[in-house]
Amino acid sequence: VAKQTGGDGTMIFTQSIRDILERKRLIERSLISAIKAHQFELYYQPKIGGLSRQVCGYEALVRWNHPELGMLSPTEFIPIAEETGAILPLGDWILEQACQYAKRLHDLGFHNLPVAVNVSAAQLSDPGWLDRLLLTLKSTQLPAHLIELELTETQLLNDIDHSTDIITYIRSLGIKVALDDFGTGYSSLSYLRNLPLDTLKIDRSFVSHLKEGQESYDLAIIKAVTALAKQLGIALVAEGVEQPTQEKILTDIGCDQLQGYLYSKPIPAKEFLALCLRSLAAEDA
Ligand code: C2E
Ligand code: MG
Ligand code: MG
Ligand code: MG
Repeated sequence: VAKQTGGDGTMIFTQSIRDILERKRLIERSLISAIKAHQFELYYQPKIGGLSRQVCGYEALVRWNHPELGMLSPTEFIPIAEETGAILPLGDWILEQACQYAKRLHDLGFHNLPVAVNVSAAQLSDPGWLDRLLLTLKSTQLPAHLIELELTETQLLNDIDHSTDIITYIRSLGIKVALDDFGTGYSSLSYLRNLPLDTLKIDRSFVSHLKEGQESYDLAIIKAVTALAKQLGIALVAEGVEQPTQEKILTDIGCDQLQGYLYSKPIPAKEFLALCLRSLAAEDA
């Protein structure tokens, strides 16, 4: 089929759209069986204390080692999983893996390293989800304060009243809640007032253009958000820190936690454990 190119290249275009749809269908079809086939894996990325410069927490980020398509990014398959409903079993699996791992780190002596897990709107609005989360905490015996759920504005605004109720309940159990990608949604400051949160994660698009000695809108926004977080008594994490100059600006402003390639990309469980042990050894030395 691909050979029948018209002089204007129309067929090539049609073919590539067909490829994209094929790929999407393949992903849709194989999502559920991939959970049972152990094709998913959690990578972990550290969060670094702005003052301590030590690992102070970490985020679980899912990867899919697809037998035909290779390593897939969550930006490609999570939206498809959300569309098809596969995010419910996949999300359960992710939470269980992350809790098991955090419990393991806890038992190795890391009593204060919470794991952050991204949660989709479909999970929040699934009536059975909360019970399954509680069961997972119980079966893994992870202390509730060692898990933080990352939600985005768009997800919360889906149904702000239900979100507020669920978040209030989750937090009453000691589980922490973070607002992810802050500043990219149709954010409004009015809902922040009513939303009980532990952490704001300012989106990396604001961090990526920070340059030393340069006043900019991004800098002004980050300063304002830092002040806001302080006032509200919630922690502020800067995402996407890649350059030492960004680190300097952010710590000067008083940002609590930093996360980004400057410290580490998301890495497999074993490597992340080694990173924690190294960081602990450096602390003791
Ligand atoms: P997110 O939760 O905002 O995660 C941050 C993303 O930025 C991650 O991409 C991470 O690898 C990337 N990142 C971290 N530091 C840097 C940096 O310094 N520079 C740049 N350029 N990027 C950086 P990733 O792993 O591809 O995940 C993308 C998104 O997919 C996540 O955004 C989250 O929305 C979603 N996602 C990932 N894992 C899960 C999951 O387990 N469940 C759900 N529901 N969504 C997930
Ligand atoms: Mg996140
Ligand atoms: Mg984010
Ligand atoms: Mg994101």
